[in-house]
Amino acid sequence: MHRKTILQAKEDLLQKKYSAVELTKAIYQRIESVEPKVQAYVHLTQDIALNQAQEADQKLAAGQDAPLLGIPIALKDLICMQDTRTTCSSKMLDQFIAPYDATVVSRLKKAGAVILGKTNMDEFAMGSSTENSWHHPTMNPWDLSRVPGGSSGGSAAAVAAQECLAALGSDTGGSIRQPANFCGVTGLKPTYGRVSRFGLVAFASSLDQIGPMTKTVADSALLMNVIAGNDPQDSTSADVKLPNFMNSLERNLSGLKMGIPKEYFTSGIDPEVEASVQEAIKTLESFGMKKVEISLPHLQYSVATYYIIACAEASANLSRYDGVRYGYRSKNSDNLLEMYMNTRQEGFGEEVKRRIMLGTFVLSSGYYDAYYLKGQKVRTLIKQDFENAFEQCDVIIAPNSPITAFKLGERVNDPIKMYLSDIYTISANLAGIPGISIPCGISKTNEMPIGIQLMSKHFDEESLIAVGHQFQLNTEHHLKQPPL
Ligand code: GLN
Repeated sequence: MHRKTILQAKEDLLQKKYSAVELTKAIYQRIESVEPKVQAYVHLTQDIALNQAQEADQKLAAGQDAPLLGIPIALKDLICMQDTRTTCSSKMLDQFIAPYDATVVSRLKKAGAVILGKTNMDEFAMGSSTENSWHHPTMNPWDLSRVPGGSSGGSAAAVAAQECLAALGSDTGGSIRQPANFCGVTGLKPTYGRVSRFGLVAFASSLDQIGPMTKTVADSALLMNVIAGNDPQDSTSADVKLPNFMNSLERNLSGLKMGIPKEYFTSGIDPEVEASVQEAIKTLESFGMKKVEISLPHLQYSVATYYIIACAEASANLSRYDGVRYGYRSKNSDNLLEMYMNTRQEGFGEEVKRRIMLGTFVLSSGYYDAYYLKGQKVRTLIKQDFENAFEQCDVIIAPNSPITAFKLGERVNDPIKMYLSDIYTISANLAGIPGISIPCGISKTNEMPIGIQLMSKHFDEESLIAVGHQFQLNTEHHLKQPPL
């Protein structure tokens, strides 16, 4: 049962091949057997899940239907679910119990989903390997000595290891797409504003976005139908027309123009990754899609721009963790100021502190103009690059990551090297456009998954779903299983 996609399990549940309780129990059995190796979860919500599964079975027996009725799903541990722990993989929030549901969670519940538990991540979503978790690292199911990517590494590993049918992640600079790429699953970062951020613990509020991590593009389309849409609780969520994303699965791609940005295929990319992406482009051409060369000239500034803006926003967002209102409080202090300082010193990990300091620095008077303001200007140039590109093409095709999953410990002590590996994903966040990562091959050198990234105009997730689904109908990369 754990091998099913959402759509397959839905069908089976409707045909009464097994019950939602049986499905949920089967997934927990799978979790029990592989979790000692993978460690994708930080806590399980077994009691809640079994209740939800029972309810789903009652509804199924009464002939009712809902988009995710009885479907077991995992949540990245920065998405709040009422009365359960939401730790952001930080000591700072280790004992924090969310007092309310994130909008995505209330929508999942309303759609009948079964919530299995919370998945591991880099602390406060800062990282690209899930090694910055305060709890423990997560291992890549394809090779336990390698990272699953990050920051949604737990969600990606859980989907790849069949420890859930699908998961939600969040993507501020690539945290859905890069781990999906590293673990050989499908990961969609929607347009900024497409999915409500209410109840998502903030990292960088102008970049953060929640999205589905699934076994197939079709499952992502189904999840998008549930989680997307305007929310009065999030003033940045967009009030735009909401399509039925499932309708895009049938679209004919003939004549659709795919832009190949020349800057994405320069030095630094692993030749095997490049070859795999080029092969995928040929497959897309066989659907009648037309190739056009495009240019995104400001790509080279995207890493610097992102790390200025994201850190600036993080330094403001994380100022709320002061030991007073919620979260960890240091016991070793005699006065208020010391309590603030010790709480933050003891509660945050190294990477989080590095970002708070960087962010505070670029916002400080005297440096604001030179760094933050300039970063915002370059962000506009990057956005304009995409606007120009989309005058020539409908979707942009690129790699997600210049490399396949690296070894645990290999980069964690070299932050610059870690930051540079985000080069292909962060410009979509800076521009606010949607992007999807889809498996497109396996490396012959290390047998790790390779992915292709598709990007489209604001609020055109439909094109990503259309192209991604046709690709999966005609290839088998997404069906390959890790040798767990
Ligand atoms: N790897 C990037 C970072 O460390 C992206 C993280 C994310 O998308 N949350 O900031």
